[in-house]
Amino acid sequence: MKDHEIEQWYSYYHEKFKIPKEYLRRDYEAELSGKNPMEAPLEIPDKMEIFFKYSLGQQSRFFRELRENKKIFGAKCIKCGKVYCPPRANCHLCYRQTEWVPLEGNGVIKACTVQYYTTSAFIKKVPFICAYVQLDGTDSLMMTNMEVEDVSRVKVGTRVKAVFREERTGSITDFYFRPVE
Ligand SMILES: [Zn+2]
Repeated sequence: MKDHEIEQWYSYYHEKFKIPKEYLRRDYEAELSGKNPMEAPLEIPDKMEIFFKYSLGQQSRFFRELRENKKIFGAKCIKCGKVYCPPRANCHLCYRQTEWVPLEGNGVIKACTVQYYTTSAFIKKVPFICAYVQLDGTDSLMMTNMEVEDVSRVKVGTRVKAVFREERTGSITDFYFRPVE
């Protein structure tokens, strides 16, 4: 192929599949410039889209309880009694199984920071608070986003409660924390 034809070929697949042109040049320069033998397998660009099911495994009940019952569950070690939220299938101290225990959804901020800079996905939310919350009855911390009008009201030691969204999908964003008045 002539140079301008090769450029047209790159443009065609760049527009068709959004493949960066530098990738096309890297992968197809030899073919288009005639270096590959006539009998060699001919490769052409294509695109694959994949839908798949992501399994939440042994944490599944935690997310079902959020979606179906607006309830936060912790996982309690059957040996040492430590309670984890987010839940764990096994205790990281004694490696024993855990069992489900319902929590009230109240807790306290153990660490927090105000975000004034972020990626484009969250830029409309700044300033927002990222906090580690210890739920009552648990021995672990949960990283979470707060929703609060005045970020100066939130600090270490602030009591918070979980608020569930009306539309829930079975994900960690089905609830958020608000300071208790
Ligand atoms: Zn344990």
